[in-house]
Amino acid sequence: MNCPCCSGKPYEECCKPYHTGEKHAPTAEALMRSRFSAFAIPNGDYLMETTHPGKRKLHHKKDLQEWGEINQWTKLEIIRIPALNQVEFKAYYTDQDGNPLIHHEFSIFQKMHERWYYVSGEFLD
Ligand SMILES: [Zn+2]
Repeated sequence: MNCPCCSGKPYEECCKPYHTGEKHAPTAEALMRSRFSAFAIPNGDYLMETTHPGKRKLHHKKDLQEWGEINQWTKLEIIRIPALNQVEFKAYYTDQDGNPLIHHEFSIFQKMHERWYYVSGEFLD
């Protein structure tokens, strides 16, 4: 299957090695893409693992898993990458009532021990 992150590559050659732990995402963008794919699949474990350890208490695996499951994730658009640890993106999805929606976010990432983590995001209109 094509990778849900819209890279145009097969899932096996894109986000899958990150989801399975075979590799770690080398950049904040790659991590962001793999987290979008993890919502699409969904893979709540991966979403928790790639959240900054200091921020995990703000999230619940079950919620992440459900948020992935109830929505249909249709497209990811990277808007800009103003710094190595910042990604602005739009995630297109359809909610459980069939409404097409856009989640527009400016996300901050941090690299620790050679691994990237999602720290926080500011939701934009
Ligand atoms: Zn991908």
